[in-house]
Amino acid sequence: LISKQPNTGTTIFTVMSKLASEHGALNLSQGFPNFDCSPILTELVNHYLKKGMNQYAPMAGIQALREVIAQKVSDLYQVHYHPDSEVTVVCGATEALYAAITAVVHHGDEVILLEPCYDSYAPAVTLNGGVPVYVTLTPENDYKIDWNIVKGKINERTKLIILNTPHNPTGTVLSQEDLNSLAEIIKDTNIFLIGDEVYEHIIFDGLAHWSLLRHPILKERSFICGSFGKTFHVTGWKVGYCLAPKQLSEEFRKVHQWLTFSTVTPIQYALADFLQDPQNYLSIPSFYQEKRDKFLACIKDSRFTFTPAKGSFFQCVNYERITDENDYELAIRLTKEIGVASIPVSVFYHKKNDFKILRFCFAKDDETLEKAGEKLSKL
Ligand code: PMP
Ligand code: GLN
Repeated sequence: LISKQPNTGTTIFTVMSKLASEHGALNLSQGFPNFDCSPILTELVNHYLKKGMNQYAPMAGIQALREVIAQKVSDLYQVHYHPDSEVTVVCGATEALYAAITAVVHHGDEVILLEPCYDSYAPAVTLNGGVPVYVTLTPENDYKIDWNIVKGKINERTKLIILNTPHNPTGTVLSQEDLNSLAEIIKDTNIFLIGDEVYEHIIFDGLAHWSLLRHPILKERSFICGSFGKTFHVTGWKVGYCLAPKQLSEEFRKVHQWLTFSTVTPIQYALADFLQDPQNYLSIPSFYQEKRDKFLACIKDSRFTFTPAKGSFFQCVNYERITDENDYELAIRLTKEIGVASIPVSVFYHKKNDFKILRFCFAKDDETLEKAGEKLSKL
């Protein structure tokens, strides 16, 4: 057997969560909340389970959910996506990303990835015969994107650029100027875009979410990927969606149809009802801003240095005042010795580096954040 993925091991999220549980450590590694979702949402799921909504959903998702997603983006960003032909409900953003990549990447096509980046992008590209081309962002520069460098990577083989805002792991966000610069460099090409926007509602300090769909030139070639797991504290439900113009959605659905066909029915009904009240997502930024601020207050007397996250539920910290170890060794040691698990940020790059950054997930109850802060402040 010749492996199609010779370099794929177990994801860092699985590795660190397992290590945390083996050592009874506070798990600030894998990105998931340790608190429950709204009881209204679980009641809705129960309701639809009991009502017998337990068979296959339509391939593109139930009508009510597609409609309310289209309504939400129309209210928030004044853009129109037709619920019948331009909104597709899928099994989490992971599927949305895979299906979008599969829909457009042919053998030998190049895909520009801005690293550090989420770990599923590059494997999805290579499994489709594509070639990842990296633009490396660094902490010294607060992970700012130099669009001239991105431009320099574009050639006739470039098929796709993947953007993620708010960003995992760095907590940075794209600005309106970023969208303008991107539009300028791709407007005369046939390049497609993916906007991985799973942290759309987890954005702080009054910043606006600059979705790719807010720029007309970008919107017409973008697959926008969303996830209810992040927004509603239900990462285990794996329901997400993809917004894309009709022609792109058609290609996207061809892949989705063969990949999973459809996703979990009662939960789609529950989400459709829950989304009817905009407060359920409009309350999320301040909820998570408090979490971020709580975590930062808990580590303010530590020797870590950091720029506060602008979005996502992750905080990156620099530890060079504490130790010389590489981030992977340190993340393992902190889990075993002080009982706090984190993610080494070097794993989000395609080549080894020694930037000395750890990522902590602050989607945790206050007690967990306080206990973690106490332990981390002793270092
Ligand atoms: N993109 C990013 C940036 C993520 O952080 C995650 C997950 N945590 C995903 C995609 C996948 O989302 P989902 O769990 O809905 O598949
Ligand atoms: N997105 C989550 C994170 O970054 C993990 C999701 C997963 O475990 N696949 O931590």
